[in-house]
Amino acid sequence: MNNRYFQPESLMMSHGYKPALSEGAIKCPIFQTSTFVFNSAEEGKAFFEVAYGQREKEPNEELGLIYSRLNNPDLQILEERLCLWDEADECAVFESGMSAISTVMLEFLRPGDAILYSKPVYGGTDHFINKVLPEYGITGHGFTNTQSEEEVFQDLKGKGLEHKVKMVYVETPANPTNALFDLEECKKIADRLSTSDKEVVVCVDNTYMGPLWQHPLKHGADLVVYSATKYIGGHSDLIAGAVLGKSKHMKRVRTLRTFLGNMAGPWTGWLLMRSLETLKVRMSKQAENTVEVAQYLSQHPKVEQVYYLGHLEEGSRQYAIYKKQHSSAGAMLSFDIKGGEAEAFKFLNNLKLIKLAVSLGSTESLAEHPATMTHSDVSKEDKDSIGITEKLVRLSIGVEHPSDIIWDIEQALEKC
Ligand SMILES: *Cc1c(COP(=O)(O)O)cnc(C)c1O
Repeated sequence: MNNRYFQPESLMMSHGYKPALSEGAIKCPIFQTSTFVFNSAEEGKAFFEVAYGQREKEPNEELGLIYSRLNNPDLQILEERLCLWDEADECAVFESGMSAISTVMLEFLRPGDAILYSKPVYGGTDHFINKVLPEYGITGHGFTNTQSEEEVFQDLKGKGLEHKVKMVYVETPANPTNALFDLEECKKIADRLSTSDKEVVVCVDNTYMGPLWQHPLKHGADLVVYSATKYIGGHSDLIAGAVLGKSKHMKRVRTLRTFLGNMAGPWTGWLLMRSLETLKVRMSKQAENTVEVAQYLSQHPKVEQVYYLGHLEEGSRQYAIYKKQHSSAGAMLSFDIKGGEAEAFKFLNNLKLIKLAVSLGSTESLAEHPATMTHSDVSKEDKDSIGITEKLVRLSIGVEHPSDIIWDIEQALEKC
């Protein structure tokens, strides 16, 4: 009875931090410093040998603090805490979700390679794959969750890309429709495309489920990326990103981060540690509220359809994926309002408590119109096939009293 495996939420206040190293302060201070003083030249030499991979760490050796682009206590402790939720070997925190995503792609793709990605993906990701990567000779090829493994394969073959794919990139549930992808199937596709001298890595954007409700590394993913701006930060007051995975892959991600210099700063690291202390209670309350909001919307005469993971049809393929990969239906939902853009806008303009803003996963409830806002850049053809119509409204549910959220939705719908 002397040793106990503590749950991640029990460790978010203390894990990885030694008060004795900071005058006994119960909380990790903000190490607002660019560089760290070495005790001797020999020590500086030893730190650099490890940091630059010139030798492996000795069994009990800890990487010494050198310079805040390489390491800083606020980032290191935060990264150790983030590892607990996903049971990852290592984590690297970035200055935004987009810098996390673009760094992973630049590290694992080279000119002549291809990336196979799920459709739809976040707008910024879509832009990076289709507008930026082609400038470096890298081709993007999208697949949807209505295609079988064989169909995806035949498509790649038709384009002569089957030997070029180096990464399978998946965003599930897909924003804004909650469409699900089977991660084990994505892993199978990656394995089929791998050869003895080419490993195809699977990278999953888990922003929509946060570190709590889906753990992609357990379902075959090699890397997980987050916009930490969303659930991890959770208070709409910072921009940050994170990548997690096995040491083998993370060493490469961390090294490129060091030389691109796109790590988060100490102040952001400190804010994220503060956020992690309440991650579980925030997200649990948000998911609880969403059950009630979804229930209310699905019986409302002015609502045509609700897209919510808790309402998937039992026995369907989507339901099977949901049961396998998720521990909660989450706090994101979207719905089709009866009518079109005019009705959707009327609803959004009449909200009093829920804020009309993009982003998601924070303590306050947010509403937006994907077709003209977050997804306005998506082609008409893709919008139609994915269901991003003029009548679609997306909601991110916060921690307010559920009856106040529902009151607000009710009075705004009355005006449509
Ligand atoms: C917001 C978001 C991103 C981009 O993250 P930033 O922190 O804004 O750079 C990437 N993926 C998803 C799913 C997102 O919602």
